[in-house]
Amino acid sequence: MLSSCSPRPTADAPVTMAIVNAHIWTGNPKQPWAEAIALRGDRIAIVGSNDDVKKSLGDVKPVDAHGEMVTPGFIDSHVHFLDGGRQLSSVQLRDAKTPAEFIQRIKAFAATVPAGTWITGGDWDHQLWGGELPRHEWIDSVTPNNPVAIARLDGHMILANALAMRDAKVSTASKAVAGGTIVRDASGAPTGIFKDNAQDIIFGAIPDPSPEMSDRALNAAMKYVAEQGVTSVAHMGTWGDLAVFERAHKAGTMITRISAAVPISTWARLRDTIAARGRGDDWLHIGGLKGFADGSLGSHTAAFLEPYTDAPKDSGLLVTPPDSLYAWGSAADKAGLQLIVHAIGDRAIRTQLDIFQRIERENGARDRRFRIEHAQHIAPSDIARFAKLHVIASMQPYHAIDDGRWAEKEIGHERAKTSYAWKSLLDSGALLAFGSDWDVAPPIPLEGIYAAATRATTDGKNPGGWIPEQKIGVEEALRAYTSGGAYAMFADSTRGTLEPGKLADLTMIDRDITKIAPVEIKDAHIVMTVVGGKVVYQRAGDRAAH
Ligand SMILES: [Zn+2]
Repeated sequence: MLSSCSPRPTADAPVTMAIVNAHIWTGNPKQPWAEAIALRGDRIAIVGSNDDVKKSLGDVKPVDAHGEMVTPGFIDSHVHFLDGGRQLSSVQLRDAKTPAEFIQRIKAFAATVPAGTWITGGDWDHQLWGGELPRHEWIDSVTPNNPVAIARLDGHMILANALAMRDAKVSTASKAVAGGTIVRDASGAPTGIFKDNAQDIIFGAIPDPSPEMSDRALNAAMKYVAEQGVTSVAHMGTWGDLAVFERAHKAGTMITRISAAVPISTWARLRDTIAARGRGDDWLHIGGLKGFADGSLGSHTAAFLEPYTDAPKDSGLLVTPPDSLYAWGSAADKAGLQLIVHAIGDRAIRTQLDIFQRIERENGARDRRFRIEHAQHIAPSDIARFAKLHVIASMQPYHAIDDGRWAEKEIGHERAKTSYAWKSLLDSGALLAFGSDWDVAPPIPLEGIYAAATRATTDGKNPGGWIPEQKIGVEEALRAYTSGGAYAMFADSTRGTLEPGKLADLTMIDRDITKIAPVEIKDAHIVMTVVGGKVVYQRAGDRAAH
């Protein structure tokens, strides 16, 4: 129970921070715009005019925003937070454009790493050099002392070097893996590429990171997302990750609010944990379960109703048997837990919608907030089912301008028309929650908003937008990064809009992104990020906060 010795600040207590002369986009339909905002402790006290706020200042010197924009703190609805933090200090392959550059960067990085230490992360993209998959021979000679397991940027395949395969006891005799692929050469020898569930063979050989390394990764991740204006994240991960977050929470070092999902197969453990300890608080919250229906487009493992356009015998794969997703999901739903399921191809999405529909029918109505993660390629006839079944579409707009470079080669133009179908989903009444899928993509909401509003692919080839009819407005994208995300993590009563009484989480941007051409959003910068009434990021050289 709350003790009476530390009461919440009362309405007549002095404000602790204020911002005036701002373009404040509140996200609150009853008061969409304001000039000034005052905070009291970790809560919002006043949202209104400069005069409203100036009356209550007491000794506080307000921040003069000079017309810059303030929004509710951005919520990234899908991150792999510790992977992101680790990747900040690992080999950078995201923009390696040729095999030679790929090899060169790995060579240079390996020279900085002690012998025996695994090299992970990477985020390579073979589509940048035309689609040829790397092989272990490419890197064996430049990584003689370090096992390597570097991931494609979607996390659905890895390249392992010879040392890593040796440690994982992989050979020509290794057996096929359900829900995954060991890529082999003509002689049957593994090439070093392991897709989806087959990655676990290699992952199983990687020693667990030390607690210190994990703490460092979390701190790096929190600091980095604060620089991007992110105040809350929904983390998709493991019980081990949760232990890292709990350590930070206990130490009082959190500057990002985390809603942490754990694997759906462990639903009973989550039920028991909540029964014993509750769901947490505004900093660290549990209650979500993450499952996988299929793989990814770039790895050809997303499950489609029809074969891939460039592989007529291949229609992808369901990585978890639908019977299991139903059985776990139904039991978890009865226990009051939230279901969060990755589904990318139209077959995976339809299968999961069917499962959600069945669970809702059998378990009865309740506020359950089913989520489909990614929801990239939806069959036209399934779009309206999201709103009808109250399924949140948790999507990552940056993926569209990244995949949009090559997606039609894989699925053709017809299916592309309802790829990343934000406009169709909103028109049908569905709720969007936006995020990044970091470390798959950068955790930068301004880039996501730019992507949603322009659909201009990163190769510059679609300046008017790839499938332009699916573009959405900047305010719609902002909503998906704020109130949509808050709703998707059951935090809408305290977060997602700027209203008195809600948590004082806000983001300041150097220009009003609703008043400029969407193409210019990529030039906007975060000026300041506030979480719980405290400044957690301020752009260097900017004015003093207070
Ligand atoms: Zn993910």
